[in-house]
Amino acid sequence: MMALQGEGELAYRWETPASVWQEDERSGQFQLLATEGLGRIDWQGQAHGRLPDVARLLGASLPTACECAPIYPEGFAFCPNCGRPLLRLSGSPSRQPGWWGPEGDAMLPRHVPHGLPVTSLPLGDSLEERPAAPHVGRCDVTMPVPPNSTCVFAASHYGFPEQRLLALAHTRGVLQYWDPLAGLWHVMTPDEGAASLTFTASSYAWLPVLEPRRGEVAIVPAAGGLLRLWINPVSETYRTEPVLDAPVVAAPGAMRRHIACLVRPEGAGVRLWSARADFAEVEEYACPDVPDAGWSRPIGYDGRLFWLHEQGQLAWRPGEAPRFTPWPPGWQPRLEFGGPTQSRDGRLWHIGHDGQGYSFLEIGSERPQGAPIDGARLGFANFLFRRGHPVLDEPWSGEHVEDLNQDETLVLPLLRAFNNNRSQPSGLVLRFHKYTGRAEEALHARANGRVLARTTVEWIGRRNVILDEVVRLSRPLECVPLVYAGCLWLHHPDWNQMRGWRLEELS
Ligand SMILES: [Zn+2]
Repeated sequence: MMALQGEGELAYRWETPASVWQEDERSGQFQLLATEGLGRIDWQGQAHGRLPDVARLLGASLPTACECAPIYPEGFAFCPNCGRPLLRLSGSPSRQPGWWGPEGDAMLPRHVPHGLPVTSLPLGDSLEERPAAPHVGRCDVTMPVPPNSTCVFAASHYGFPEQRLLALAHTRGVLQYWDPLAGLWHVMTPDEGAASLTFTASSYAWLPVLEPRRGEVAIVPAAGGLLRLWINPVSETYRTEPVLDAPVVAAPGAMRRHIACLVRPEGAGVRLWSARADFAEVEEYACPDVPDAGWSRPIGYDGRLFWLHEQGQLAWRPGEAPRFTPWPPGWQPRLEFGGPTQSRDGRLWHIGHDGQGYSFLEIGSERPQGAPIDGARLGFANFLFRRGHPVLDEPWSGEHVEDLNQDETLVLPLLRAFNNNRSQPSGLVLRFHKYTGRAEEALHARANGRVLARTTVEWIGRRNVILDEVVRLSRPLECVPLVYAGCLWLHHPDWNQMRGWRLEELS
């Protein structure tokens, strides 16, 4: 560390390995001038209440026993004014695994489909310690919902010493940052020249950066192209770098060492764009006659990426041309029921309706097989329910009835916890009580003028635990589970607060 005199006699410059600070000799206050990777620092606009958070992000020092200054440069162990000890915060990047949405777990084994709401985090070990059903629990903690509440969440360290939570309202292009020390959401301001983050063409998915540089967040889809997103939480700003300059029409996905998305360059038809993860070896394939909006987020399975649509499925294997297969005539997928599920032989299936009844249709086959079933099944990735009962074995097997009373409930799976050591899938669900109507009507409650009178939030596992209950729920598909700060959280854009349950194992 160096102290350099400059700017007359009243300011000292302190250089730490990552930052440059200025000390005002009269007031003894420190001002951050620059720090690695964060670009322009707006310290004058820095509210005092933000400093504890900023200190943790930088690995700077905070006062413990004096009030000479609210923050000190990295590595300061004692207050230079009075000599009292300071709290020296760690500057090494966090190693905690990140959360990139319920569908964003890249750590799952290959035999589990990627891109579905399946997590490898051991949530059950902790949640199953709670009192079992029929005891009705309550959440342990709450936090305010972000001001733009229809959003996707990322909890990661972005190259900083601690994890931070971001909420991207991608339909409005608003990026929001949670300051956990102040307990406040901040709307981040785009730097001059930053591209819009708005993406509404299809379901949202971003590609996390696994070894991020300071402030680096993800590769994100936007109306104008694929962008590399960077945040500066000191100035509460973000910037973007273009990765691909063409309107994105279906979210990007990764398959082994390749990434791909669907784009529609101006004046041209839809194309599949692919590259290696380092953006070398770009390839493009024309996809004539495929829709330019309304795609599911990509699902990775069996060496291929699949994008699903009301009209059909697009399958792509790296190095090969993509193939679009329309659904059989008259058969409509029920994409809102969850997502693909596996049969015991490893094939993928999706539920739909042919006008007469429901059936499962094989995904990824040129001549797909069908399997008729007697009613709606909600779920994905072998976490399936027929009304209030789990479906084990094959997707078309009869439901497993343990409790006849659950005939009058309907279960909507939200998140499966993958655990190799369990024969039965476990995870987080919503259970709608005294509901015997059609599944479609429950999922679109509000749109059809109805609400679900009583819903319980449940953990299904070795023991079933009722985590909480919700009265008058509508739009249940907008419930978003997330894992952040040692808690499982449930968010809904209609609620004032997110509900959280502590996870002992993760904290
Ligand atoms: Zn002091």
